Formats: sequence, structure tokens, C-alpha cells
Amino acid sequence: MLTTITPTLYALMGIELPSISTKQTLNKIISIGKERLSSSHLEKALIYAPDAIGATFLDDHEELAKKIEKIAPYKVEVCSVFPPKTPICFASMFTGAQPDVHGITAYKRPVLECETVFDVLIHAGKKVAIVAVKNSSIDLIFKGREMVYYSEYYDPQVIVRAIELIKSDIYDFIVVYNQEYDDMLHETTPSSPQCINASKHYIESFELLKQAIDNYWQKYNRMIAFMPDHGAHIDPETGKGTHGLNIPQDMRVYHFFDFSRGFNK
Ligand SMILES: [Zn+2]
Repeated sequence: MLTTITPTLYALMGIELPSISTKQTLNKIISIGKERLSSSHLEKALIYAPDAIGATFLDDHEELAKKIEKIAPYKVEVCSVFPPKTPICFASMFTGAQPDVHGITAYKRPVLECETVFDVLIHAGKKVAIVAVKNSSIDLIFKGREMVYYSEYYDPQVIVRAIELIKSDIYDFIVVYNQEYDDMLHETTPSSPQCINASKHYIESFELLKQAIDNYWQKYNRMIAFMPDHGAHIDPETGKGTHGLNIPQDMRVYHFFDFSRGFNK
């Protein structure tokens, strides 16, 4: 379940648990993280949030899944939340709570007033940044906090900015959001050439981010993760891609993680 991400970060980073969060964690990822970091806490984390890449798509395109696994080898299957729409999913991912608890239960994008993982990170003295496409859900629903928001024109500008932020070494927790695959699936179908292309852009971007953290965050215990929100299917009425149903194509996603111990730690 997407709600397990926040408590998993809580366990790995040694922060508090947001008040509305579930306590259920991704146990496998916590044990791998602890082992890879010799039981010390994560100091920095980079979360790549690529919109709409579902497990069904990656099962059908194994070569693409393999490429992601090469960058971040620890893979878990996670169930999205219902209805699987972007603001609802990311609200659950970053609060640890179900939609009826965090309050976004339909495709609406209010600023979340409940406690999020960002609030507990800030409370723990961590510097947090969100880099997203302007007016995307992630760009909007977490506003109003003592953190930095970069709202960029589109995915390529998001990645350029994210690499600058990693390089600056100011931030401890960066969320990077891309959306080309979601845009393309609504215009075409989830496995169209345009979508395949978009998914390749996600993977290339994820690799660039991984290289950047390995270069510029070398001295820190660090994590990178590939965390999509939901999948997609073809709407028989329109013949185009869509999502929002309680079916495996929409609900199943894979999250990929990697951990590195800081140099000299
Ligand atoms: Zn969508």
C-alpha cells in the first residue's frame, strides 16, 4: 500500500511519524536499508515520482523494468490507493494515510492541512525541496510549508533543477516529479510508442539523478527511490489510456530503491 512509504521513511531516517500515518512499513526495504547503511540512519533521500508508470506496463516491458532495477535494485510491489488518481495517491504516499483520512478523496487539489512527511522532516531540522512541473498535483497540495518549491515548465527543466539542487548540497530530502508518461497515455494508450518513449525519458532522468547523488552526496548515507503513484488501462469507450478504477492495471505499481553508505562512514 502507498501509505507504507511514509512510515518506511520514518524508520529509515529516524524522524517522527506524521500524526495520521499508518504504522505499517515496507519491512523488506527497511531491512535492506539498515543492512546497507550498517544500521545508521539515512541522511539524504531523493524521491523520483514518475506519474502513472504501473506494474502492468513494466511487466509487459521487462527490458525497461530491468533498466530501472539496474539503477535501484531493490524492488517491491505496492498497491495504490483508491481511486488511483495523482493527488489522492501522492497525498497518501506522503502522509501515510488513506484518502478518507487525509481528505483528498476525489480529483481535487487543495493544500493539505494535515501533517505530512515534509512537516516531520522540517521539524527534525531537515531541508526539504519539491521540484515539479508547474501546477501539477505535487506542486500544489504540499504548499505552505517551510520548504522550497520549484515549479518548472516541464520534465526536462525539472531534472535540470533537481541536479542543481543536489549539487548545491543544501537539501536533505528532495522530491522530483515528472509527468510525460501520464500526459501521453491520456492522449494515446499506455503502451503506445509515445508512452514507451516517455517511459524511457523517465528512466534516463532517474539515471541522471542517481549519478548526481553519487557524485555530490558521496559523503552521506543516502537513498534514491523510483516511486510512481498508479498505473493505467485503456478505456473501451474512448480507446485511450485512463486510470481511476480498482483494477490491477491501475492499482499495482513497483517501487525501486537503492541505498549507499556515505564515504568514510
Ligand atoms: Zn493521469
